[in-house]
Amino acid sequence: MIDLRSDTVTKPTSEMRKVMAEAQVGDDVFGEDATVNALEDKVAKMFGFEAGLFTPSGTMANQLAVNVLTDQGDEVLIEETGHIFNYESTAASHLSSVLLRPLQGTKGKLSADLLKDTIRGQQDWEPRTKVIALENSTNKGGGCCYTEQELAAISSFATQNNLSVHLDGARIWNAMTATETEPTFYSRIADTLSVCFSKGLGAPVGSMILSSQENITDARRMRKMWGGGMRQIGILAAAADYALDYHYPLLKDDHRKAREIAEIIDECSDLLIDLDSVETNILIFDVINTTAEEAVQQLAGEGIQVVPFGPRTLRATFHFQIMDKDLQKVKEAFRIIFN
Ligand SMILES: *Cc1c(COP(=O)(O)O)cnc(C)c1O
Repeated sequence: MIDLRSDTVTKPTSEMRKVMAEAQVGDDVFGEDATVNALEDKVAKMFGFEAGLFTPSGTMANQLAVNVLTDQGDEVLIEETGHIFNYESTAASHLSSVLLRPLQGTKGKLSADLLKDTIRGQQDWEPRTKVIALENSTNKGGGCCYTEQELAAISSFATQNNLSVHLDGARIWNAMTATETEPTFYSRIADTLSVCFSKGLGAPVGSMILSSQENITDARRMRKMWGGGMRQIGILAAAADYALDYHYPLLKDDHRKAREIAEIIDECSDLLIDLDSVETNILIFDVINTTAEEAVQQLAGEGIQVVPFGPRTLRATFHFQIMDKDLQKVKEAFRIIFN
């Protein structure tokens, strides 16, 4: 099977397993795991934040950010396709007692213009708007990226209105690759950033929340309270560190693979894709004459796995373990089934 369901399906390579086996470890609840401490410092420095905290999942990193940036009864603005709103159950209301307010943007992105007139909290029957939650690249938005200008405009809007900005950067690595943005840019436009090592970077586990030392101290206490205190996690941090050094540079090639398949999809009479929306490693496209479920079955019959993303919508995702010979098979299958 050629698995295009997600960039989370990669398996640790033998080189990665070797650095995991050899990692220096200690009890991280006591702050004594040298490998995770070094990784937290390295990634914080890379993005220009004061501190970082390793988490078992991106969901936990996002929810810690929501928690440290809000008080009970606050409101978080988010694009309606956002991960925090769609794929993290009711965590924000459950864990932090805040309201998520979905706004309809484009390709998963908010804009300073769209945010105008959304702020409330003057009246005691209103929630207090406190945070703007962004995602870069966007997942349900088809892997689209914010430009630096768009982010800077949202950030200055936030500053003017006393709001914090959280950036869900599960795929910030893809966004940086596509837009050639310097990592330190993000600490200038966001109060908290979450990054993920287990998507296209290919580590088996791990995300990180980055912010000020004060926020990370709060997040660390909350991570423990939520059951996320871990022990000898140098094994996991070593995998994440390896992924950063050796797999991050490969993302460019994932984007090339996605683009090649997008062009084949564009040529298929039964498929519809917006080529302009193909910026990174995610393709979201529509079937015209069948349902998404049917198309998934047809592709599975040719040895290719994709996921349905709506009644007529499919998602295909590319990663470094999709080889060029796999790509040839994918192209042939699309031409056979959808022409
Ligand atoms: C995958 C993902 C996350 C984190 O998901 P986990 O499965 O909890 O690690 C967060 N945000 C986005 C946009 C994602 O795609």
